[in-house]
Amino acid sequence: MKIAFWQKESFIDYPGKISTLVFTPGCNYNCGYCHNPELKEFDGKGINETEIFEYLIANKGWIDAIAISGGEPTMQIGLKDFAKKAKDLGLLVKLDTNGAAYTILQQLKNEKLIDYVAMDVKGPVELYPLITKTKLIGLRDNLGKGISIISQFPESEFRTTLCPVYNNGEPRWMTPEEIGKTAELIHDWSFHQGKSSYFLQPFKAIEKEEGDEKFLRENLPAEFYETPQKLLKECLVEAQKHLPNAKIR
Ligand code: SF4
Repeated sequence: MKIAFWQKESFIDYPGKISTLVFTPGCNYNCGYCHNPELKEFDGKGINETEIFEYLIANKGWIDAIAISGGEPTMQIGLKDFAKKAKDLGLLVKLDTNGAAYTILQQLKNEKLIDYVAMDVKGPVELYPLITKTKLIGLRDNLGKGISIISQFPESEFRTTLCPVYNNGEPRWMTPEEIGKTAELIHDWSFHQGKSSYFLQPFKAIEKEEGDEKFLRENLPAEFYETPQKLLKECLVEAQKHLPNAKIR
């Protein structure tokens, strides 16, 4: 599997576990608020996975899990083999995904290769083209299938970043009503309706020069540097109408 970056230890990327964290290059979306924009067109040398597995063998008993993030890891042909090698070492495996590649997710689930899946649900269906800046065909059904499959992994979570949305060239915050619709979408497609974990995350202005210029701190009005706590709380109220377990992260 292609790996662009590697963080040997993480205490936050697999809930309750010490994990090693890998970032795969490439993504099928082009979200303006992406915090890993350098991964989208990554053409660096990357990391050889042999080095990672040697480290994991040497640190058996210390590292509990491997977290696979990106970019979008389901674009990697070697993802299944990589996850299998990790499982063979007795590690837990977590996947961060945007959920678009539901057939790959189904295979990973059938083969029991992933223990924990975290899916970014970008917002309600109608905001997807604006947020992902990607032309999406059959979006509502595809998104629903992704949510349904992900909700059937041993552990899963859904999360949404409350980001600025550009309508007619001007930014505005995503609204509580839109978050309510997002939570309803997750509820309606989840296998265990109403029980899904859902997290609302604040947006933070991008400080990397490779980032989308409309989301760079230097170009944003000050009120869009970070999602206001008041808005997060108002959105949480709407989300909990559909998903009582919703929380602010
Ligand atoms: S789906 Fe994730 S990795 Fe891909 S562009 Fe959007 S925020 Fe970045």
